[in-house]
Amino acid sequence: MKVDRLSISSARMFARWGEQYRFKREVGPMAPGIALVRGKGLDAAANLNNEQKAKTRIDLPLEEIEAAAADSVEASFHGQVMLTPDERQLGAQAVKDDTKDRAVRLARRYRDAVAPRIQPGLLPNGEPAVQAAVSASLPAIGLELYGVMDLQDEARVIRDLKSSGKSPNRDAAEKSSQLSMYGLLDHILTGAPTSRLALDTVVLTDGGKCYAADAQETTRGPEEHVAMIERLGTIKNAIEREIFVPTDPDNWACSPRFCGYYEQCRYTQRGASRPQS
Ligand code: SF4
Repeated sequence: MKVDRLSISSARMFARWGEQYRFKREVGPMAPGIALVRGKGLDAAANLNNEQKAKTRIDLPLEEIEAAAADSVEASFHGQVMLTPDERQLGAQAVKDDTKDRAVRLARRYRDAVAPRIQPGLLPNGEPAVQAAVSASLPAIGLELYGVMDLQDEARVIRDLKSSGKSPNRDAAEKSSQLSMYGLLDHILTGAPTSRLALDTVVLTDGGKCYAADAQETTRGPEEHVAMIERLGTIKNAIEREIFVPTDPDNWACSPRFCGYYEQCRYTQRGASRPQS
């Protein structure tokens, strides 16, 4: 099977969880788990704020940001959501209420501690540089790479927003393949020799502590771009040859809690002695 186009998220999924990528392609996307629903709530709040702030230069009132996060969780629960056995026992309504509460707390912290220090930029066509679809072709490997950038600020820093249960590693931005791919697209589309990138993280721990981690800034230049093109070429070749490596069972993602394909997967180890969630 020829692969001419690949999204940033698919390339990352394939590299981390090859068999999950195959399932997604053949069976369809898995329903989002609670962590993803919560993260989407934060994204919805941030996007609502940043789309208008690109032009007004003013952050929205807190209530509007909180409402956007809560509405997003509500909308997710109107579709399919993947619940763990524990969550199913708790009941969908209780889980939804808790998820809404946590998404609102993340959004509140974003509004207090992250949004005030970011001024979203504008695209050349005058539209906000928020959730902008980008794509570029990589002739050396015969591939078009595409994705959606969270935000580019007016200093031209491409920023990615994450929610997490713990502070990111100190080198998270440095090592992020997602940022490397954004940097590569930026380089191809604008000719900029070096791209500036940043990772903004809002943390909500299991214990209920909610804070904004220090923003991590990084760059990508010619050497990183060459390495990423090599990497993408290898990913493309492996997909075309249908080499889908299963995730190691000790990886956090290879569990009924995080992998919606777990029950159907031929690689999972079953039996009463195995952890079930
Ligand atoms: S259960 Fe594990 S090996 Fe199977 S698709 Fe999910 S992550 Fe991959």
